[in-house]
Amino acid sequence: MRDELFRKLIIEVRDLHNVFEPRTTGTQRPGRSYLTPRTTGTQRPVRSFILGIETSCDETAAAVVENGSRIRSSIVASQLDVHSKYGGVVPELASREHLRAIVPVVRQALEEAQADLDTLAAIAVTAGPGLVGSLLVGVTYAKALCFARGLPLIAVNHVEGHIHSVLLDNPELQFPALALVVSGGHTHLFEVREPGDYRLLGKTRDDAAGEAYDKVAKLLGFGYPGGPIIDKLASHGNPRAVKFTLAKMKGNELDFSFSGLKTAVLRWTEQHDMAEEIARRKQLRNPPDWLAVTPQATLDLLASFQYTVIEELLRRASAAAEQIGAESVIVAGGVACNAGLRKQAEQQTGLRFYFPSAGLATDNAAMIAAAAFPKFRRQEFAGFDLKAQAGLSLV
Ligand code: ADP
Ligand code: MG
Repeated sequence: MRDELFRKLIIEVRDLHNVFEPRTTGTQRPGRSYLTPRTTGTQRPVRSFILGIETSCDETAAAVVENGSRIRSSIVASQLDVHSKYGGVVPELASREHLRAIVPVVRQALEEAQADLDTLAAIAVTAGPGLVGSLLVGVTYAKALCFARGLPLIAVNHVEGHIHSVLLDNPELQFPALALVVSGGHTHLFEVREPGDYRLLGKTRDDAAGEAYDKVAKLLGFGYPGGPIIDKLASHGNPRAVKFTLAKMKGNELDFSFSGLKTAVLRWTEQHDMAEEIARRKQLRNPPDWLAVTPQATLDLLASFQYTVIEELLRRASAAAEQIGAESVIVAGGVACNAGLRKQAEQQTGLRFYFPSAGLATDNAAMIAAAAFPKFRRQEFAGFDLKAQAGLSLV
């Protein structure tokens, strides 16, 4: 697999080298493609566009962002169809899909932004954390483009990207702020002193909140990803119907734990003889309406599960905000889409919450290009020895 990946990327690099050579065939479309050689005119391009590339998990994404705040294009190719039948992301399949998608996705991002490689200031790429085979595709491709066109390369941490998905369109946000990064792979609390300056306050000791949603959904026979399905169904149930206990953390009280809750849901299903109902749902795969195939008792269970997750998140976010004297809370990552969380956050805490706008909560490359802008200004560039780092931490 790894060999095949390298072979394909080497072919890409070789093709990129060709951009320096005069084209002799008459088969090419007229006009400027993004691989057209740089013109020799005296006009210098305005170099404030950053191309972001994100391939850390199961989304191949590319975006062009101007000056860290104006999204010129944002293309996301989701692999949901590929992975959903397995109930989760299959790493080998993810790498292969990234390889298939990376070139057209980058090309489309540049075309929609009406940008070409000459108008770019830099190329930013997610260096980690994530699946190493997936990261490798983006990192190698970004390096190849930078190498071929003499552009600076900027390495971005995926988690920092998520924080910037909110900073991107909320320039008025006050610092210090608290950031709650809550996704399929993360449930972390950071103090954000200013963009680029972070301190870890707490994190999950087992499952991430999004992972708990996905696992509970799988257990109950719902589709993948589970978060959006449970979120929708939870509004039809009674959140007080099942009393789940909140996790008590020894040591750092700002840490999270969701595995106990997941086990409690499992115990509940065992005690309530749900096998038949679950088997029926599993056969349906993806019905147009999950609500129609879900009895009230299960809706109550889902509402209670969601209620408990939101309690866990907001209780610790409040305590953390108080600890650092922050009045603004950034919520980022896929779980930031959660309607229940959005509804309860300010009501319950009295703090000012900032959520990503549509399309920026789940993985995307606009947040990577935005996070790269402060680094671009500080000239924090990566070398061609940049590696994909599965376990890269932000602080
Ligand atoms: P990661 O980068 O860690 O893979 P993403 O930022 O792409 O995660 O977010 C995906 C996660 O967000 C999944 O676990 C999914 O179930 C969860 N998610 C998406 N929408 C919602 C929602 N409305 N409520 C709860 N969780 C959600
Ligand atoms: Mg993510």
